[in-house]
Amino acid sequence: MKLTVFILLLISALSAFALECDLKSQAELGNEILKELSTSPISCKPNSVHVTFDDGPSPNVTPHILDELQLRNVKASFFITTSNLDPEHARYKENRDLVLKTMNAGHLIANHGHKHDAYCLRMNGKGEILDEGFTQTEREEQIKKSTELLQWSTAGKYNQQKPLLFRFPYGRGAMPSEMELQRMVSDGEIKLKPGTYSEQLAEYRHLSPPLQTLAGSNLSHLGWNHDSGDSSFGVKAPENKVIKDYILKNLRGLCSNPQITKVALFHDIKEMNISAIPVILDIGKCLGLKFISAQEMAKDKNLNKTGVLIEKQDILIGMVKSGLSTLEETKDLTPKQCITEIDKSCFSEQYKKRYPHCTGGDSVCFEGKWLSRTDPIIINNCH
Ligand SMILES: [Zn+2]
Repeated sequence: MKLTVFILLLISALSAFALECDLKSQAELGNEILKELSTSPISCKPNSVHVTFDDGPSPNVTPHILDELQLRNVKASFFITTSNLDPEHARYKENRDLVLKTMNAGHLIANHGHKHDAYCLRMNGKGEILDEGFTQTEREEQIKKSTELLQWSTAGKYNQQKPLLFRFPYGRGAMPSEMELQRMVSDGEIKLKPGTYSEQLAEYRHLSPPLQTLAGSNLSHLGWNHDSGDSSFGVKAPENKVIKDYILKNLRGLCSNPQITKVALFHDIKEMNISAIPVILDIGKCLGLKFISAQEMAKDKNLNKTGVLIEKQDILIGMVKSGLSTLEETKDLTPKQCITEIDKSCFSEQYKKRYPHCTGGDSVCFEGKWLSRTDPIIINNCH
């Protein structure tokens, strides 16, 4: 028995040791990680990962990240904090050029808002309030300003991209903590059915005022399901040992739960990523990770189910179901979505209460067609 265990251990050690990787850069650091993996291997099944960077651009970091991505033909999303592009910013010209360069390299330029403040209540782990969040008017102004600056920096090409993504600073507005959710309910800011945190979170994603502001601006929300943890470090790179631990922690996280496409959160303002990202990409690929673009990522409907990706249409459907929106505002939904989602809501009790006799708008979606509210079919069904 002991011998069998020994042989098994030997085989696993040898197979782990056999992990050979094409280290395209940062070979010294990469080899140290490979050595580490030979003694404590990571079990990794093939899995897709979409890499995202927030808070940039940064003239000190972003150009290096772009070079490393290009070397490996990996397409990422960059969620830009547009106060970096404001003419009041000391380096706005360099930053603006970087945004255009990033777009021309085939990455997605995404919106992280103008000022990096929370779009709704933000608390720390102890339940202390850090930020009350923007008001509705402020949210609209912030999104308008960031969109204008991104359009300006990309010669009008930003709005033509698909998908058009936004990420709330700190994720607040789409990913509230349990404490924040409870507080918003008890303050009467939002009404949710009683339920577990995950049930209420799912309902919140249809009712969140910040998400509705996004839908009104033609934007979908992308959160994340893998946090690199780089926000707990300073801008300057820490010592090598810390970077090694950071890389290993990220490889372990990206390899866990292989059935779920990972949306990985990094920041291209952190200098540690200049050396860490190439090693994560090279060794991740050897371990079986496939780095996919924003367009490929958006095809995974599991991301919608888990609320990592909240598309504009999901928000609109939720609003109609809850009686917060008229059908008029959802005309850009496809007939198929219209049949499965919208016309059911027209006949719901909640909808009738909100729009007695279905007089909320001029037309209604019925069996894939927009009909007048005075059409006999609608009258018979809605009145
Ligand atoms: Zn951020």
